[in-house]
Amino acid sequence: MQHFDAIVIGAGFAGLRALHELRELGLSTQVFEAGSDVGGTWYWNRYPGARTDSESWVYAYSFSKELQDEWSWSERFPPQPEALAYLRHVAERFDMRRDIAFDTKVESAAWDESAQRWTVRDDRGGLWTCRYLVTAVGVLSTPYVPPWPGIEKFKGEWYVTGRWPKERVSFAGKRVVVIGTGATAIQAIPIIAQTARHLMVLQRTPNYVLPARNGPLTDEERDAIRRDYDAIWAQAREHFFGFAMDPAGRTIADVTPEEHQRILERGWETGGFRFIFETFDDIFIDDRSNEVAAEFIRNKIRTIVKDPATAELLCPKDYPLTAKRPPLGHFYYETFNRPNVALVDVKDDPITELTERGVRTATREFEADLIVFATGFDAVTGTLTKMDVRGRGGVTIADKWRDGPRTHLGIMVDGFPNLFMVLGPQSPFANIPVVIDGMVDWIGRAIQHLRANRLTTLEPKPEAVEAWRKHVDRLVNATVLSKGRSWFLGDNIPGKPHVTLFHFGGAGVYRRECLAEAENGFASFFTS
Ligand code: FAD
Ligand code: NAP
Repeated sequence: MQHFDAIVIGAGFAGLRALHELRELGLSTQVFEAGSDVGGTWYWNRYPGARTDSESWVYAYSFSKELQDEWSWSERFPPQPEALAYLRHVAERFDMRRDIAFDTKVESAAWDESAQRWTVRDDRGGLWTCRYLVTAVGVLSTPYVPPWPGIEKFKGEWYVTGRWPKERVSFAGKRVVVIGTGATAIQAIPIIAQTARHLMVLQRTPNYVLPARNGPLTDEERDAIRRDYDAIWAQAREHFFGFAMDPAGRTIADVTPEEHQRILERGWETGGFRFIFETFDDIFIDDRSNEVAAEFIRNKIRTIVKDPATAELLCPKDYPLTAKRPPLGHFYYETFNRPNVALVDVKDDPITELTERGVRTATREFEADLIVFATGFDAVTGTLTKMDVRGRGGVTIADKWRDGPRTHLGIMVDGFPNLFMVLGPQSPFANIPVVIDGMVDWIGRAIQHLRANRLTTLEPKPEAVEAWRKHVDRLVNATVLSKGRSWFLGDNIPGKPHVTLFHFGGAGVYRRECLAEAENGFASFFTS
């Protein structure tokens, strides 16, 4: 049984960042990755249209000036192959592959009380031990397809977006059914519509889709980004959602209704999440402000989509803007003006089964040659609880979190010594590279603290965990986010506890909360 100082599970954005940090500390580190390559999200999500919703210049690492200087993004929102190429480049540039075992899934990890270390088992029969176990398994890495019966009967092709094949999938001449209208489907639908004979979109809940306004970056823009990287990152670290944007500096009450429309129009034309972050600062917290922005979007939908009935179906009406994560669209609403595209509401006529010929709802059957399941993920906790992770006394993390996740800082769990989670539940909801950077930096500090003080274990006190739960609850309840049904509240999976899976207090605030813990000598933790 081989021993490492640290084992990292996952070789996506977080796992690579963690490997870099642990190596810098001089720790022997082994990464296990279920996929055949690095990339995580960008390895698995190869569906048509997949690209980032974060602007490329902040969807990157900030730990290496040389890396920043040598990498060039082609577009404002890079497509999946480019995001994957970036992570491959990072793995090669920093010679990371020699420490990564691919096609190797960790099945279990158990805390060995007598040896004060973790025993890790993989699906190839490997058994390993380590002092520090770092999970970097992703918040959106376990796809979810509702357990409709009958898939084995379906005679056509079918694909799950989060496990899209590497081979090209052709839609040409086919009758395609897409199930779902979340951020994934919203990217795929306009591309599929270009070649499918007919595309039927089965929608349960409409989304507030913001225009991305993607485009190529010019050499001048790229040079300016390189010159400004320090300022860009300083801004992103402070921004509530980790973007290089400034707050709008105004609320809806500060200006006249005519000004509302002008400001929102500018945000709409600028594109991306700037529609939210650079218009009014109270969209997240004030119902009235939120409704002004929401109605603006509904009116845009009514203007773009020619068929009034389809337009109304596409208008979200019963939850506030941002209570579901707003997707960025690339001519999404325009796609419903195509003669080969139809939208069907399955809210009151739910999907019941898959048949030989297609998809059946309570009252109808939709024939298909190809079905795309864009039905989301068992987000944040799903991947962790599906692994057999056992802390002190053999307690599994799935049992520990039966009524909802319990962590301190979204990084550590009481009863699970030296288990460090990058993007664990109750960590910030924000542009993820910024969050990962802060969390991995904290993990590095924690391990340094142990080693400098000749300590073996670190584990949060239960009262700190309970205080963190109350804190994240308070944060989400102060926003409009709690007024919808979303995967970030566990609502997309029947039976999953309805609790916030994220810290909605801002990326900068969170970073300072973490730093305060470190500067306080890790007083909220037991050490031994
Ligand atoms: P992942 O990239 O999910 O990587 C986790 C890795 O762990 C996977 O490779 C998985 O195979 C591996 N793994 C899991 N369990 C095991 C196991 N038991 N054993 C071995 N390996 C295991 N976020 C943004 O901030 N901006 C965006 O624009 C953005 N776009 C996105 C687009 C899509 C389509 C999706 C699905 C998500 C997007 N996200 C975005 C969120 C995205 O998941 C993160 O930005 C980021 O890629 C997460 O990196 P990660 O390393 O934490 O997780
Ligand atoms: P999602 O937002 O959870 O969307 C899943 C869709 O499937 C929803 O429309 C949902 O409807 C529908 N659905 C689920 N169960 C259903 C059922 N039983 N019957 C009918 N419809 C059903 O998942 P996603 O689109 O994969 O996106 C998840 C997250 O991944 C995003 O919010 C985002 O954070 C990330 N993502 C990011 C990007 C990007 O940044 N570029 C791209 C893709 C994904 P309901 O809404 O009614 O539940």
